[in-house]
Order: sequence, then structure tokens, then C-alpha cells
Amino acid sequence: MTTLSFHNSLTHRVQEFKPIADDHIGLYTCGPTVYNFAHIGNFRCYAFEDILKRTLRFCGYNVKHVMNLTDVDDKTIRGSQAAKIPLNDFTQKYKDAFFNDIKTLRIIPADVYPAATAHIPEMLEIIKALFDKGIAYQAEDKSVYFSIAKWPRYGQLVHIDHDQMKAGARVSMDEYAKESVADFALWKAYDEADGDVAWDSPWGKGRPGWHLECSAMSSKYLGKTFDIHCGGIDNMFPHHEDEIAQSEAANGVKFVNYWLHCAHLMVDGQKMSKSLGNFYTLRDILEKGYTGREIRWVLIGTHYRQSLNFSFKALDDARASLQRLDALRSRLLENAAVADDKQDAQVDEILKNAIDAFTAGLADDLNISAALAAMFDLLRELNKLMDEKRCLGINAKNALETIKKIDSVLAVFEPDQDDSVPPEIQKMADDRQAARKAKDFATADALRKQLDELGWVIEDTPKGPRVKRK
Ligand code: AMP
Ligand code: ZN
Repeated sequence: MTTLSFHNSLTHRVQEFKPIADDHIGLYTCGPTVYNFAHIGNFRCYAFEDILKRTLRFCGYNVKHVMNLTDVDDKTIRGSQAAKIPLNDFTQKYKDAFFNDIKTLRIIPADVYPAATAHIPEMLEIIKALFDKGIAYQAEDKSVYFSIAKWPRYGQLVHIDHDQMKAGARVSMDEYAKESVADFALWKAYDEADGDVAWDSPWGKGRPGWHLECSAMSSKYLGKTFDIHCGGIDNMFPHHEDEIAQSEAANGVKFVNYWLHCAHLMVDGQKMSKSLGNFYTLRDILEKGYTGREIRWVLIGTHYRQSLNFSFKALDDARASLQRLDALRSRLLENAAVADDKQDAQVDEILKNAIDAFTAGLADDLNISAALAAMFDLLRELNKLMDEKRCLGINAKNALETIKKIDSVLAVFEPDQDDSVPPEIQKMADDRQAARKAKDFATADALRKQLDELGWVIEDTPKGPRVKRK
């Protein structure tokens, strides 16, 4: 098995990866809060996790991947109240959208998608264990808190200085900054603002804190100690710090061996986020005529620990790079159709070297630049061989096999199959047709031009006009 190294946020260094079991890896990744469409910043994180998982598989490991869906918190409750629909119906819409989006981005789905609302008993068990150990307490506001003073190992991940902690200070919000490090809520006492969202517990009616769900669901599906936990760097504090504290204090064993965090997707120097309003959802970008494959290319193309600045120029560049891959693929397919069963040793060597260089790049903390360089070197060599008519028949077939192996990690070679037309685009095409029928050619032309700018063309077919991607 290939030796892999990853940067472990716990130790702050790149370490050789040693799994708990020989070839079965437990992987937990923090999933979306389903109160809105995920933005492409979130998808940068999920795309990095996809590359990690595909690399582990490529290197021969079996991976059990669990990703939670946060379907109860302040944001989901507020959203369902504003939409005047029950919480579950409200979150279902965004769960469905999330699954569609990951398909568009060629992200392999997790094996289990536990939802917070379906795991309240498991969360209560952790609180009970913490209570029995004297680490959890119920405050005057009836909420249950984790006492960080009772857990001296608090702060392992982000190195918090215990002398700075304010004894007895509490924070009931799910998200808070490192400056407000304090006892955090495990169980939030019912508040009228929560409407009908509440569960019974030995400490009264209420709902769980956000951090608790990941502790409960990861250990339920992966065991009390598992291999890898991922998320974006903004999740390191308080979310992951609190997860470690709760889990290790309750279970008495190490929680996770390797923590991998991806840097942010930025817009003009700031983190892309809902709260700053500087975000694009996946559908925003698809509507501008870009494909899931192009967006994936941009998201995976920068090393996961470097911040990535989002721009439409990067998407245009992606289109050009992918056209090079498409041209090579068509050329190889043509060459493979030529009868030739004599294997060329030099071609074999080039293919082997390409896989070795690609693997070495990924094994070095997912060094995507090195892995992509190996792929582009191969592309150049293959084009040269084909110019010399030395990559025909079996040799072209082997080259295609090699590319398929590389693509089991990158997932960018296959052209997009999805020819579905977004409703807005279809409406513009229908309006254009109606304008033509009404002999309003100026409007029809303007709509055609607009569609063209968005990356769509109208084709006349015997069944009438059909809109398709350019
Ligand atoms: P959230 O729904 O905000 O909990 O985020 C889901 C995941 O996306 C978390 O792992 C976040 O750390 C990650 N994330 C959020 N914004 C960004 C961003 N701009 N770039 C990269 N990852 C992000
Ligand atoms: Zn989490």
C-alpha cells in the first residue's frame, strides 16, 4: 500500500498516515446546515474531501465516509418559521438541493448522511456521561453546559491558554470566536423563539447544541476512535475543539487521529460566506453557463491548505484546460480504433511513470499541483507519441486506461452528461419562440443573444427549437 502523508491539525505537521485497521478507514466530514443552498465556498471544502476520499481509494483503502446534515439549529429554526412550514419540510428542500449539487460536482456521496434530528437519544447519552463525570452542569438558565475548567485538555487543537479562560463564563450560541472561549452549551433549554422545535430530556425540554451532533453521530457510525475528521478551517474553533472535548471526556479515549482542514474560498480577499453576502451558490454559476465539471476543476486545482480566490476568469481558464483534455481523449479514442496489438515498451514506461508521479504527488499531503503536473506531462508525451503514430491500438487503449485511473481521483475527464436545461433558460428559449411567432424579431434576437452570452444555443430540430449548452 502506498504510504500517504497528511498535515494533521492536531500536531501542526505533515505526518505519515497510519490507519487504525489495515485497509479500512473511518472518515467523518462536517456537512451542510440545510437552511439554504450551499455556496461554492462550502463546496470547496466538500471537493477537497472528495479528493481525499478518492485518493485513499486509489491507494487501495476502503473508506467508510459519514457526513452529517445539520437540520436543527438557530438558522434552520428561523428559516422554517419565516417560511411558515414545519422544520422537516423546510430542511428537506435543501437536503435535496445538496444531493443534486454534489452530483453536479462529481462528488462521491458519503456512505451515511445522519441527520441531527434523528440522533437526539445518542446526544443525550453523551450529556449523561459528562454529567456522571461532573464535567457537565445545568445552569440557572436551565441549559446544560460543558465545564472547560473540569477538562484541562480543552484547547488541544487551537492551543488555548488556560490562564486566559474566564472561570464560569458561558456561551450558548453555536458559533463564537476564540476570544469568547467559555463553557459551551450541550443542551439548550427551550426558548419560546424555538416554536414547536423541542425534545424532552432529563434536564427539561430543549434542543441539542450543534457541536454535540458531530460527536454523537461520528462515534455511532465510526466508533469512539476513528481515523480522519475533516472540515473547513473556520470549523476548527469552536466546533472541532468542542467535539474533541465532549467526545474524549465522555468516552475516555482519543477521538480522532488525523484532523485535516481546508483553507477558505475567498472573494476579493474575504472568506466567501452567507453572512458577508459575497457568495455564489452552485446554481448561480450554472446559470451563467458554466458546467459542474468546470467548477470542480477550479475547486480542486489549488492545494487544500492554500486559500483559493474565486473568479470567473478561473472558470474561463478551466474551460480552456478541459478542452485540452477533451481533445486528447478524442484523439486517443480515434487511435485506439486502429488495429495494432503490438505493445510499445516506451509507451508502457511513460504510462507507468505518469501513474508513479501522480501517486507521489497525492501521497505528499494531497499535492494537487504535482499530481496535475504529472497529468499534463503525460498529455504532452501522448500527443507527441500520437504525432509520431506510435500510440495506436493497444497502446492507445492502455493510455486511456491510465487516464481512467488518474480520473478515478480527479473526476474531470468524462465530458458532462448532464444536458438538463435550467428552468430560467428554458423560459427564455420559450419566450424567444413566442416572440418569433408574433413576428417580434427584435425581442427574439435579443433573447437569442442573451442566451448566447449565458452559454446556450438554440438548435432547430424537426420537433421544434431545442436549447442546448454551447
Ligand atoms: P456550514 O454550512 O457553514 O457549517 O459549512 C459547511 C462546511 O463548509 C464547513 O466545513 C465549513 O468550514 C466549510 N466552509 C464554509 N465556508 C467556506 C469557504 N468560504 N471556503 C471553504 N470552506 C468553507
Ligand atoms: Zn461537525
